[in-house]
Amino acid sequence: MIAYPCFVDGRALPVDEVVDVVNPSTGELLAQVARGRAEHIDEAVAAARAAFPAWRATPVLERSHILRRIGAAIRREREELAHLESQDTGKPLSQARTDADVAARYFEFYANTVEAFYGQTLPQNGDYLAQTRHEPYGVTGHIIPWNYPMQIGCRTIAPSLAVGNCCVVKPAEEAPLTVTRIAELAHGAGLPAGVLNVVPGLGAEAGAALAGHPGIDHLSFTGSVLVGTAVAQAAAVNVIPVALELGGKSPNIVFPDANLDLAVPTIAKSLLQNAGQTCSAGSRLLVHESVHADVVDRLEKVLAGIRIGPGPSDPDLGPLISARQLARVQAMVAAQAEVRPPRIGGGDGASMPPGGFYFPPTVFDDLDPGALIAQEEVFGPVLAVSTFNNTDQAVEIANGTQYGLIAAIWTRDLDVALRVCDEVQAGQVYVNTYGAGGGVEFSFGGFKKSGYGREKGFQALEELCQTKTVVIKVGRDA
Ligand code: NAD
Repeated sequence: MIAYPCFVDGRALPVDEVVDVVNPSTGELLAQVARGRAEHIDEAVAAARAAFPAWRATPVLERSHILRRIGAAIRREREELAHLESQDTGKPLSQARTDADVAARYFEFYANTVEAFYGQTLPQNGDYLAQTRHEPYGVTGHIIPWNYPMQIGCRTIAPSLAVGNCCVVKPAEEAPLTVTRIAELAHGAGLPAGVLNVVPGLGAEAGAALAGHPGIDHLSFTGSVLVGTAVAQAAAVNVIPVALELGGKSPNIVFPDANLDLAVPTIAKSLLQNAGQTCSAGSRLLVHESVHADVVDRLEKVLAGIRIGPGPSDPDLGPLISARQLARVQAMVAAQAEVRPPRIGGGDGASMPPGGFYFPPTVFDDLDPGALIAQEEVFGPVLAVSTFNNTDQAVEIANGTQYGLIAAIWTRDLDVALRVCDEVQAGQVYVNTYGAGGGVEFSFGGFKKSGYGREKGFQALEELCQTKTVVIKVGRDA
């Protein structure tokens, strides 16, 4: 068994206690990680603060070279990282390979874009020279969830490092392995000691200590609304900005003229990806009455053919992350089934592969859009289907939850597509496609309770910098 330490100041920090990490595909012990506590967060913050002046002063070109080398190291170790992520999270191996590629892309993308990010001189009347400068905050905290540890870790770490911040990262206790490994790879690629520190541990211990730490200058949090709210409150005491990436209940909206050959497999994929444990999962299907029967029939056929199994065997659907998550999904499905049984799937998962935390794809049809299962994030392969009979109603249902992360519109009518793009409340809107999370290049974040602040794209560089306006009077009388 491998024991994963805290990674602080470029080396393993001895920690006496450990947290067990379970392989969700088998239910067996996979690894043990350090149980970081407040004192380890203190050490990590101190190391990051000490490293900050030199890292900030490192020429942007050199930072960019180091980031590019980290991206190359991730690509070199792609298979190792993908297997580790698949074992740790239970996700299908090919999805874990994609995660490794995207993690590398974050370092490559910000290595490239950060060079073009600096330098804006504003025209002023008279003898004034005015600049808006982007300055790093100092030490940024990163609290990572278990569903996409590698991708979500790298999507805030890479831009933060690019603009000259130093990072303290707290991965999720359920799946902490790849983030720690990437920190080691980053140092092997030339990142100076103390610039990137990882302290695994429990949310209530290491996580809470990081969120409320006075030595942190900016916090990126990805996780649930409940914990995100607590983290934002803790950060408010220190008056620091927080970017919150929270949950979603994202709809696929299917109009009568949609190309169903394209729509239905994509809708199924948006549900099954990472066993539905994706913040941007397509967990609601809003379908026009006239095509409802056809769409659900086709969906049933697609779901009947999927392979379910351990993540490393690269099935279509792997297990849920933990026994706790499985129990949560089972309870939500059972509560809805009492009102009306699911059309597809359901049950207690007893017919699933043995050992791990498997749950079958489950579809509740003809739901009242106000039903709890159509309102709350399940974080499992559970789809809530409701019908509409006009565009107003489609938009009203789409906007009728507390979330606003993603929406997809399926129509060949450009007027309908543009109108819904305009009226739907979501941070990313897709037409005739579904990009869960989308590309590295697009900004990403939520409306409403899905959070605030933006990650990815150019906007992440702005998010992780503070601007300083400098006005200089020049000329003879200065
Ligand atoms: P979670 O909120 O329970 O945990 C997220 C992180 O917060 C973990 O690292 C955890 O250890 C830490 N944490 C827990 N309690 C804490 C505390 N009191 N103080 C500080 N940190 C604490 O969420 P989860 O179960 O890990 O992830 C699932 C949730 O994350 C879902 O709601 C999902 O939608 C959301 N999510 C959102 C995005 C996005 O980009 N919008 C991406 C992935 C996941």
